[in-house]
Amino acid sequence: MKDCIFCKIVKGEIPCSKVYEDDKVLAFNDINPEAPVHVLIVPKTHVQSIMDLKEDEYQLIGHVFKVTSKIAKDLKVDEKGFRIVNNIGEDGGQTVPHVHFHLLGGRALQWPPG
Ligand code: AMP
Ligand code: ZN
Repeated sequence: MKDCIFCKIVKGEIPCSKVYEDDKVLAFNDINPEAPVHVLIVPKTHVQSIMDLKEDEYQLIGHVFKVTSKIAKDLKVDEKGFRIVNNIGEDGGQTVPHVHFHLLGGRALQWPPG
């Protein structure tokens, strides 16, 4: 979608620090990392949030989790653990309206979130 920052990254119009890519998703390092490992896993098609997924698009989320587990292994946070975060809407703290999942790790993360 025009004017969507993550669509621009997917199209290569804005650079990113790529971690993983296949035909369905792109993963790159967050520009403002909140942990030693902070990767964003982004479906290539523009969908605002999981609330807007069509019936045949839910399988994409399963694929995102599969990719996330591979990245967690590659970046060696799988043994100590990590967190997957998906912020939705205003109260959820979503700042980029293109569905994405944060992989956070490399330090002990607090709970509950603020
Ligand atoms: P959220 O607040 O859940 O919507 O997450 C959006 C994330 O995108 C934030 O953690 C930002 O730091 C990150 N972000 C915004 N612009 C970029 C960019 N150009 N490259 C990498 N990460 C970005
Ligand atoms: Zn987009």
